[in-house]
Amino acid sequence: MAAGRCYELVPREVPRVETRYRRIVTPFPVPESIPLLQDLRAYEPQSMEGQPPVIWDRADGCQVYDPYGNMWLDFSSGVLVTNAGHGRKEIAEAVIEQANRRLLTHYCFPGGPRRGLAKRLVELAPDRLDKAFILTTGSEAVECAIKLSRAHGLAVGGPEKLVIVSFTGAFHGRTLASQLAGGIPALKDWIGPLDPTFVQVPYPDGFRCEDTSFELFERTLAQKGIAPERVCGVLTETFQGGNATFLPVEYMQRLRAWCDEHDVVLTCDEIQAAFGRTGTMWGFEHYGIVPDLMTLGKGISSSLPISAVVGTEALLNQFPPGSMTSTHTGNPICSAAACANIDLILREHLIDHARDVGQVLQAELTAIKDRFTDVIGAVGGRGMVAAAQCIVPGTKDPDADLAWDVVRRCVESGLLFFSPVGFGGGTIKICPPLCTEQAAIQDGCQVLGSSFEAVLAGRAKA
Ligand code: PMP
Repeated sequence: MAAGRCYELVPREVPRVETRYRRIVTPFPVPESIPLLQDLRAYEPQSMEGQPPVIWDRADGCQVYDPYGNMWLDFSSGVLVTNAGHGRKEIAEAVIEQANRRLLTHYCFPGGPRRGLAKRLVELAPDRLDKAFILTTGSEAVECAIKLSRAHGLAVGGPEKLVIVSFTGAFHGRTLASQLAGGIPALKDWIGPLDPTFVQVPYPDGFRCEDTSFELFERTLAQKGIAPERVCGVLTETFQGGNATFLPVEYMQRLRAWCDEHDVVLTCDEIQAAFGRTGTMWGFEHYGIVPDLMTLGKGISSSLPISAVVGTEALLNQFPPGSMTSTHTGNPICSAAACANIDLILREHLIDHARDVGQVLQAELTAIKDRFTDVIGAVGGRGMVAAAQCIVPGTKDPDADLAWDVVRRCVESGLLFFSPVGFGGGTIKICPPLCTEQAAIQDGCQVLGSSFEAVLAGRAKA
């Protein structure tokens, strides 16, 4: 297993902060929070220890509050969940209303909220995608997409057509097949002999993989001895979560054509990208293509656990009644939350807002890269998702220590990030709720820039 990092539970004095968006009035971690943090460490696996020790007590819009008087401007959205904003009243009310009907679950029996959500998803999706299967987690949706691709491959090409192609650096979840489809070595180095039907090709990010031509896709498969006839599915994040980079448009269009030519199912993992995150309803709109399947999660509800696979009828109808189900499919409370969330995103024009304010975010981040050009190798993103990749100067090697120290410094200054992600843990990911106003984006970016400055100054002194 790759060595993970966690915060020491030793309170440190940090400067007091009191601004419109941020308030820090205690040492950090907060001394009174230590027993709670210790209990979590005692009762949960250590894999749960990776995030900054901010005790979430209440969250509202683009801000997160602890019970000790501190307030953070949130650049995490949980983990790209709260697209409509934290703690939205309309979503909470939909949940309460459904709970008050005392219908908390109904398995696969018919029910109104599930109908509402399935219909909504299909109506919002491009024309070809006319079935929605509702699940609970993102990983589960990815598992289902893999299953649907395999079933299709078997039907059209026989037992040789089983290969799932995905990308280096990809993240698709932490259940076994979704983890096998991931392209981050640490996801798989513990698994033992790997399933040879899961194959990765280089992700054409233009930074660590400079060849962004589609020929690289075909060449890599040929080098690995995989004929196109053996491929049943290609799975890609619409933008790669670990670095917030998109594939070149031409690459994606050629990939779409290649999949059509070889009867291969193309899945866009939209678990981070959908519901306005990139300034369009669906992230794949940036490519001018429509996938055969898309996986949805996170921002689908801005709150409760719910996910979905949306795709063509031919693919989604491969399994007969009763044989592709889930106990919690379309749970009525989660479905009600998702419908209320989608209504909010549309009613408040949060997608346009994400596109417009996102331009400010991207420009601010580019300015930060220009200031610290030795140690930020690349920035990427679109709309309300962005990333800065920290590097060792003069190389493309990730600098996980720098990313970690900058995130720590930001959190101590009242700007909330989740811990660094991406290649070698060197990426600082920026993903505010879509409703965040421009002044808050600018405030957060100013904190990010000054945190780089302070950490680098501290290094120079040491
Ligand atoms: N796919 C992508 C692109 C993701 O970002 C994630 C979660 N980070 C997943 C799949 C897995 O979702 P979940 O954690 O809900 O299982």
